[in-house]
Amino acid sequence: MASTRQIDQQRPAETTELSLASGENKEGPASLNQVPPLSGYNLFLSDTTLSQAIVREGAGWAREQISEFGRLLGTDEVQRWGFDANENKPVLHTHDRYGNRRDEVIFHPSWHSLMRMSVENRLHNLPWEANKSGAHVARAALMMLAAQNEAGHTCPISMTFSAVAALRVDPALAHEWEPKIFSASYDPRFVPSQEKAGVLLGMGMTEKQGGSDVRANITRAERIGNSREYLITGHKWFCSAPMCDAFLILAQTGNGLSCFLLPRWTPAGNKNKFHLQRLKDKLGNRSNASSEVEFAQAWAQLVGEEGRGIQTIIEMVNHTRLDCSIAAAGLMRQALVQAMHHASHRKAFGKLLMDQPLMRNVLADLALESEAATLLMVRVAKSFDVRNTNDQERAFCRIVTAIAKYWLCKRSPAAVGEALECLGGNGYVEESMMPRLYREAPLYSIWEGSGNVICLDVLRALAKEPATVDALLNELKSVAGKGQRLDNYVLALQDRLASKSNGGVAEYSARELTEKLALALQASLMVRYSSSHAAEAFIGSRLAGQHGHAFGTLPAGVNVAGILETAGMAQ
Ligand SMILES: Cc1cc2nc3c(=O)[nH]c(=O)nc-3n(C[C@H](O)[C@H](O)[C@H](O)COP(=O)(O)OP(=O)(O)OC[C@H]3O[C@@H](n4cnc5c(N)ncnc54)[C@H](O)[C@@H]3O)c2cc1C
Repeated sequence: MASTRQIDQQRPAETTELSLASGENKEGPASLNQVPPLSGYNLFLSDTTLSQAIVREGAGWAREQISEFGRLLGTDEVQRWGFDANENKPVLHTHDRYGNRRDEVIFHPSWHSLMRMSVENRLHNLPWEANKSGAHVARAALMMLAAQNEAGHTCPISMTFSAVAALRVDPALAHEWEPKIFSASYDPRFVPSQEKAGVLLGMGMTEKQGGSDVRANITRAERIGNSREYLITGHKWFCSAPMCDAFLILAQTGNGLSCFLLPRWTPAGNKNKFHLQRLKDKLGNRSNASSEVEFAQAWAQLVGEEGRGIQTIIEMVNHTRLDCSIAAAGLMRQALVQAMHHASHRKAFGKLLMDQPLMRNVLADLALESEAATLLMVRVAKSFDVRNTNDQERAFCRIVTAIAKYWLCKRSPAAVGEALECLGGNGYVEESMMPRLYREAPLYSIWEGSGNVICLDVLRALAKEPATVDALLNELKSVAGKGQRLDNYVLALQDRLASKSNGGVAEYSARELTEKLALALQASLMVRYSSSHAAEAFIGSRLAGQHGHAFGTLPAGVNVAGILETAGMAQ
């Protein structure tokens, strides 16, 4: 079990020699009471909750790879890639010097380094390619670690991974594309996919008139003869990672909204009529390009059946929702690690921040949030691993994907914001990484179904798929008798679900219900897998009302030292 003391021991000697916390200063006054850089540590080994979870949930076979990945992410070099890729935003070239369409985005070399690292570690295909028990959990751990260093590049990684689920609706297309998706070679060249060692896929659903309500899409698809080939005319208002090799998009046919695979190059080797209009100037996620695109009779192939576009692409969306939860948990963990590191080295009023009782309350509260987030995220990933062989897990997966997506993405901006404040003014400065984490955090709640839309999806599942109610209650009851407060909370939820699944839930209350379901699930996971003092503190603060509205309002009597120890903090 690694602690932050161990993290510090792993750092290069010249860094650890700077005993800045004691006020000694080898580098002149500028370094007085400043915190040494947090690098040269292993993001995985220092995360007790994640390390234990992957072994428990059947991904122990990947431990060595995940550990090496965690080590790599903690190096100066890879940390630098994250900064450089965000400080040097991608640049769109719509035309060449002669006025011909070019439709190409140029990235900083650090973006490609990040992409290569993640592709070589199979973050974009592991569960499909390895086809091994526990592979979703293993990949979730890798994704959570990658997001902690640089989350922007995980967008095309996630879409490629997720697209396989939708492509498999169409075995012929899956057969054609999977070999190159399953490659561990990152090939960023803008050439036809036939010439490439490996490919990446994106997704285009959102149009100007709406993203949540994709039925309002106006992009049209005209069939070419009797083939499964179509010409697409229209636009997408958000199309991320436009240098992907192909996109799953939605367009209207005579039979309704349908799903298509639209490559950047046609089979004849010509550039497809996929015209990049401009790149979005975004709050965060700056390393990644998100574009507006127009299709001028672009060539595409039907995926699945005409009129079943939403049913086809929803398989992809469910996987990207899983990834939103993973990234949210990753951002919370990294923010916590940065805050704990700072507090362990920075002094105020004659004492380390880590030794100040109120700061300990804040950090322990953030640690509880992070631990519960990691446990829930891993539980969702596990349900993806086992859902094909277990009906109850399939139903559980259906509902918990949405619940976790809503709640973890909702908690992450608040937790990251609070962690940022632990660094004081330094947390507001780009070099600390905290502003980047903070800007990234709200994104996961917006895409792949914004908060309200996800909560309405939870209601829909509860009302129309009664097996989801049973699966949820079975999961929650697995800890029945382990504590009165959680038992009472679950009983109250059970009563609500009994009436709601029959009568339909008021949309007005969807957030409140989803939040309670998420908290009950997190509490049950804490009871099963965390220390008893952490589980008690979580239940007391989150379920039993012993908490204020901000972090740092844990009640007296909580075992703060124990919680911080698990989070990786030496006492
Ligand atoms: C950086 C970035 C990258 C993106 N990349 C892609 C991409 O690659 N591909 C892609 O297809 N899309 C992409 N998107 C778009 C994203 O998925 C949409 O923005 C999102 O789905 C919301 O759609 P919208 O923006 O049209 O908002 P709207 O649909 O207009 O929704 C606005 C708000 O209303 C709420 N709302 C909607 N319906 C209801 C209701 N019935 N009841 C209550 N509240 C409701 C929503 O929850 C939301 O908060 C990206 C977005 C961003 C920010």
